[in-house]
Amino acid sequence: MKTEKHKRADERKFVDRALMSAGLGSLDDPGLVGQIGFLARQIIKEHKDFMLWLGKAPLDKRRDMYEAMKPFMDHLPGGCKSLEAYQADLMIDAEVRQLPIQGADGNLLPFRAQDLVTRKPGELGVAQSIFDHEYAKHVLRLTCKRCTFFEEFPAIRKEDAVFVARETGWIIDLREQVEICPKCAEKL
Ligand SMILES: [Zn+2]
Repeated sequence: MKTEKHKRADERKFVDRALMSAGLGSLDDPGLVGQIGFLARQIIKEHKDFMLWLGKAPLDKRRDMYEAMKPFMDHLPGGCKSLEAYQADLMIDAEVRQLPIQGADGNLLPFRAQDLVTRKPGELGVAQSIFDHEYAKHVLRLTCKRCTFFEEFPAIRKEDAVFVARETGWIIDLREQVEICPKCAEKL
């Protein structure tokens, strides 16, 4: 049986072989980062490419990926934009194309603009709790305009759904009249 150390050495050899067969240096090659940066520049030629690339990253990894790629993105017109600017572009893109967005658990959810719908009794939906949805007459659906985080608040009365959303930390950006999720609200 192979020890952990051997397994890691095998994995390293595998990665080295893959890198070298792609014409890159091995993991020990100090030039590797620069080579990856060069490749990234061949693939990402405009802001939209970078935006779509960031959009594929899970929400909790997006900041790290952005920071790692940023040094290689100075060739974009006017330089690399802020992560928030790309997030806002992603949001507009999702809205225009009605693309699915990432929910709290990282799973994709259909894009829905902020709305309030009335549920028919007995109708089941995407639910945190089937009970809530069976008995909820209203579902408040909020999409954060900054990070595209999506959350549903079911309740018998719509005022209750709004109350729970506010208690959870969702706020309205009064200047832009849009909903902001608790995580983004913390950063304001
Ligand atoms: Zn947010």
